Formats: sequence, C-alpha cells, structure tokens
Amino acid sequence: DVRVRFAPSPTGPLHIGGVRTALFNYLFAKKHNGTFILRIEDTDQNRYVEGAEDYIIEALNWCKIPYDEGPEKEGNCGPYRQSERKEMYRAYAEELIEKRAAYYAFDTTEELTQARTTAEADKKTFIYNHNNRLNFTNSLTLSADEVKERLDRGDAYTVRFKPELKTLNMYDEIRKGIEIDTSLLDDKVLFKSDGMPTYHLANVVDDHTMEISHVIRGEEWLPSMALHVLLYESFGWERPKFAHLPLILKPTGKGKLSKRDGDKMGFSVFPLEWKDPKSGELSTGFREDGFLPEAMVNILAFLGWNPGTEQEIFNLEELIAAFSLDKVNSSGAKYDPEKAKWFQQQWYVQQDDAVIGSAFAKALQEQNISYGSEDYVSMVAGMVKERAVFTEDLFELAGFFFTAPSSYDEKNAKKAWKEDTNEIMSQVVQIINDTEDDSAAGLSTAIKGWIAAQEMGFGKVMMPLRLALVGSLMGPDVFEIASMIGKTETVNRIETAME
Ligand code: GLU
Repeated sequence: DVRVRFAPSPTGPLHIGGVRTALFNYLFAKKHNGTFILRIEDTDQNRYVEGAEDYIIEALNWCKIPYDEGPEKEGNCGPYRQSERKEMYRAYAEELIEKRAAYYAFDTTEELTQARTTAEADKKTFIYNHNNRLNFTNSLTLSADEVKERLDRGDAYTVRFKPELKTLNMYDEIRKGIEIDTSLLDDKVLFKSDGMPTYHLANVVDDHTMEISHVIRGEEWLPSMALHVLLYESFGWERPKFAHLPLILKPTGKGKLSKRDGDKMGFSVFPLEWKDPKSGELSTGFREDGFLPEAMVNILAFLGWNPGTEQEIFNLEELIAAFSLDKVNSSGAKYDPEKAKWFQQQWYVQQDDAVIGSAFAKALQEQNISYGSEDYVSMVAGMVKERAVFTEDLFELAGFFFTAPSSYDEKNAKKAWKEDTNEIMSQVVQIINDTEDDSAAGLSTAIKGWIAAQEMGFGKVMMPLRLALVGSLMGPDVFEIASMIGKTETVNRIETAME
C-alpha cells in the first residue's frame, strides 16, 4: 500500500516549496490509490509559531489537495501531531540504547561550548562523533552504576545516536544510488534534555508507525537521509523508499528562493497571506494576489516535474494521471514569476463568464461601484476576459462599463479631439437619439452609414467617440460599449467630453 505524508513543522507560513512537497505527495498517493497523510511536526517548542498549523491546513484546502489522515481527520495511526505523541518516543530512544546504537550523554552546555571553542581555535569545526565521543561524559565512558546514579538523581541528559561505521548504500528514487561513508557523520541528538525527541527520532519513528511507504520531501533533507536509514537499520525496521525533490531557486537561478526575493520583486512565495504574530509583518499570498488555486497547483507541478510532452495546462485529475517520480528532475527548479502569471492567465480565461462576473461584481461592490445586475457584469467579463490575468485587471479593462471616464488620456485626447470634433459629435448625438435600434449593430449601421455619406474619415468619428466613452483609445468594439451602457449614458458621456 502506498502511504505518504506531508510533515511540516508549524514554524511559520508554508513557503511554496512546502506546498509543492504536499502536492507531489498527494499526486503520488492518488496515482497509486494510496493514502495521503498530514503530520504536524511540532516537537521543537522554541520554534512553534501560533497559527501556523491552521495556516497549513487552510492552504491545503485552498489548493484543493485534501489529506486522508491528519489532525481533525483521525485515522488508524493517530494522533497526527507529534506533540500529542510525545510519550511514545522515549521508549524508542531507550530501545536504541539497549541495542547499543545510542547512548546517554551527560555533557553540560559548558563542556560542549568549550570543545567547540577549542576546535575553532584550531580552525576546525567541532563534530561529536566516533573520533572524540570517548572524551565526554556519557554512558560509553561511565560505568553502568554511574549512569544509573545520574539518571536516578535526575541529571540532565540527551540521547545520542552512534552510527555504525561503514560504507552505506542508499537509493533515492530521483537521485538514484548514493554512497556515504558513515564515519563522516556526527552523533546526532535523538532525544533532548527537555524530554522531547528531536526531529530525526520523531520523524523516523512516526514514518515507521504510520506505515509510510515513500518519504517524499525537499532536498534540504537529503543530508539527513543517511542518519534516517541508519536509524531504520538499528531498529531493525524496513526502510521506506526515499525521494528528495529539487530545490526551488530564485528567478535568476542563483540560490534558494526566499521570502525576500518575493518581497523585493513583488511576487508571492506563500499560498495565503500571512501576518507574523510576533512582528505583525504582513506578507502577501497567491490567493490574495488573485491567483486561482488551479493555477497555483499548475505552477507548483512544473517546479521540478514535467510530463515529458508539450502539454502545460493540467488540472489535478490530469496531474494525477500524468505524475510519476521518474519525471521529477534532480536539478534545482527556477521559479519564474512571469511563467506563473502565464499559468494564471490560462486558467483565468477558461472560467465561465458568470464565474468571473460574480467575482468582479464582488470587487465592484467593495469599491462602491454600482453595476446593475450580475448578468450585466458577466457579459462585460466575457468581452474583456481574454486580456485579463486577475480580477483586479478588469477595473482597467472594463471599468468604463460602470463609470464614466473621470479623465481622458491626454496624449490621445490631442490626437482624437480636433477643432471640428465638437461639431461632429453633436451630430453623432443626434443620430444616436434618432436611432431606434440601439443594439451594437443598429448603432453601428446608423453611425457608419452617416460617416460614409459625409465622405469623412472613420477615425475622425470613431476616435473621439471611443475617447468619450472609455477615456482612452482601448477596449472592445465602441458600438458594443455604447449599446451595453445604453443610449442615455452614451449621450451623456459624449456631451461631457465636448465640454
Ligand atoms: N518537519 C520537517 C519539515 O518541516 C519534515 C521533513 C521530512 O519530510 O522528513 O520539513
């Protein structure tokens, strides 16, 4: 059975890298009729951030990538928050001690700082491992009685892992074979003096007890893989398969994409807006920037994966069908904000006019702009949506369907409004008033007929007419606009422009 998990730590908002990990896990699970689990890794109480778990869940819901088991969706392997599982980890740490794969370390902070300073003075980085572990106060150097005495009197201790020295062969589904000399590893702390497991122990114990078949996670965890594999071996457990997803890089390709890149360059790296509870600082999110969840999913899917065909637009169902780990690249994936907008635009125009219309109607209402009916807004949306990327764009592309221009594009006004224009426009007003058929076609026939009869250039009428109705020389067919806003409004706007 395929069982995969997304295991974020609630230390802040999810970065798009996190959502991408969730998405790839989800796609892989659904592709194999498996189970997608959300596990909250909140053992590090110092880094816990209020609201971060809710944010994670809301972000997954918004992207429509639901988990099958997780907080508030209890399955057979719960609870799904590590803080609620904390009682169980100590026994696993003790099991490793019994198996001589781990040991109690009683070193004080002072001793460790001292060792670090000495190493630095020698221009070396301090590693606590097989080279020096016998110089420290731990259950490998103390007698069994001394250890018991210290434990009984409640001395602070950590539990450290003792990696078996060998060449370790590992396999990553994306990177393929990896070989590691375990003598280079340090004796990682598995269990802390505060009675909590570290990430490494909790993560491996949970993956095992939750029967995870594939660990699919970001490349930043690749350096931990050897330790995790050794932990499985020490416990005598079968290890899951591993797949480390490529880093997401800055648009320039130089370095990891960070929040700062987004802040500097004006694009989001978070799915939803996030207000830091400590600093009060607000970061924008894709949702609030107007991206559709379908676009976001499509954008994320292509960060490190591609279908091997020309197709770029995929909905979730199609992604599930097309997804496989062997089409995931091992090299970093550049985040391109322009490409992200392109995906959004593709998804935006695909929406029904009514859907766009209703979103636009809401936005208009928020700005206190009256819009008549939602049907009217939808018709307008249908006329301009091809040029929009976000609902926000509709104000510029179609605002004139609701409010008269408050100013005229100066450069074009000079071009369009000549000495005889007022005279011509008053005739146009007359024709409009006299025309019974006020459909776009009716108005077009009447006005174009008149222009032809006058043997006048079309531009002489059409340019100022457009300027009067729209405020600029852009937008859909003028007669469509005139017929949509109606005769009275059309005439009003022309008369205002003549003043
Ligand atoms: N809690 C880790 C994180 O925040 C999970 C890493 C993993 O998936 O093993 O990314």
